[in-house]
Amino acid sequence: MSTPERQTDIGPPHYEKFLHPVIKKNYGKWKYHEILSPGHMVHVSESGEKIFTVRIASPRLLSTDTIREYCAIAKKHSEGFLRFTTRNNVEFFATTEDGAKALMADLKSKGYMMGGIGPRISNVVHTQGWVHCHSAATDASGIVKALMDELAEYFTTKELQNRVRLAVACCVNMCGAVHCSDIAIVGVHKTPPRIDHENVKNACEVPSTIGSCPTSAISPDPTKKSVKIKLEKCMYCGNCYSVCPAMPISDAENDGVAIVVGGKVANLRTPPKFSRLAVPWIPNEPPRWPKVVAAVKTILDAYIKGARKHERVGEWVDRIGWESFFKETGLEFKIQHIDDFTFARETFRTSASFKWT
Ligand code: SF4
Ligand code: SF4
Repeated sequence: MSTPERQTDIGPPHYEKFLHPVIKKNYGKWKYHEILSPGHMVHVSESGEKIFTVRIASPRLLSTDTIREYCAIAKKHSEGFLRFTTRNNVEFFATTEDGAKALMADLKSKGYMMGGIGPRISNVVHTQGWVHCHSAATDASGIVKALMDELAEYFTTKELQNRVRLAVACCVNMCGAVHCSDIAIVGVHKTPPRIDHENVKNACEVPSTIGSCPTSAISPDPTKKSVKIKLEKCMYCGNCYSVCPAMPISDAENDGVAIVVGGKVANLRTPPKFSRLAVPWIPNEPPRWPKVVAAVKTILDAYIKGARKHERVGEWVDRIGWESFFKETGLEFKIQHIDDFTFARETFRTSASFKWT
């Protein structure tokens, strides 16, 4: 039966339109794939047809010049096709080994970093940060630059036990994949929004501002024709500021980041996992965020030292137990690590035995 024509112009065009012809022809008929080098792999179809993929890290915030250059490379080597991965990598394609070699030589001559395929770190997925978003508690792209300068060899050459996905989100709204990445950094506010009562009544819709608060911390303040916040209920999420610009939350002195670990999307061997808190607080230290970079390196080094082959970060932590995680990394266990959230029952220990291994 033929696929019916789309009757709407709402939403993106059908993805098939953007598939390289060899991928389209062999869709769902791939026999195997092989990683030939850190940024180079081949897929072989049941018909014997091959497609070579070459992956580079993108600078994430892209200038039009860079995008034009990607397009020129795709036109020259990749029949006009390229692919942006969910982790900010860019992939080009070749149908022959010689074609892939010419593509890689061209990318190398232009200074692009090839890698990220297989048991390595990926390029870092991150959110907008100070560059654009109003509720950012930190600068996502600045941290990522500092981090990738330190970890680049785990993208380009060195192998790990398994892939390690990194992410940065610049507030707890987490537009990035922080909740499901192996090691992730999340921007944290530590002070409640400041209410500009004069502007609340001029610029904000009070019912929707009240409705925006996930903890019901906001209520009307009829005397001021504004709103008030019950401080003990506020979790500094910044949702109200998204709705009401007269409630800014950014605070240069008190904003910073937390580090969470062990999340993953894959359901290979173990089910997908949410990330858990490893470091509750590190202050913002632009432009190089030395403490954040050092903490991520400490976690990665402990994983490299202690994990078994094929273990993801979360699987390694589950096997050794959180007590050993803090012992192996030397990170401090703090009161913020104790989960006292209303729905914390699922995370409570159900046994009194500690797991020292
Ligand atoms: S994570 Fe928060 S601050 Fe960052 S882009 Fe998303 S909403 Fe904005
Ligand atoms: S910051 Fe979040 S929790 Fe606090 S008042 Fe605003 S919406 Fe509510």
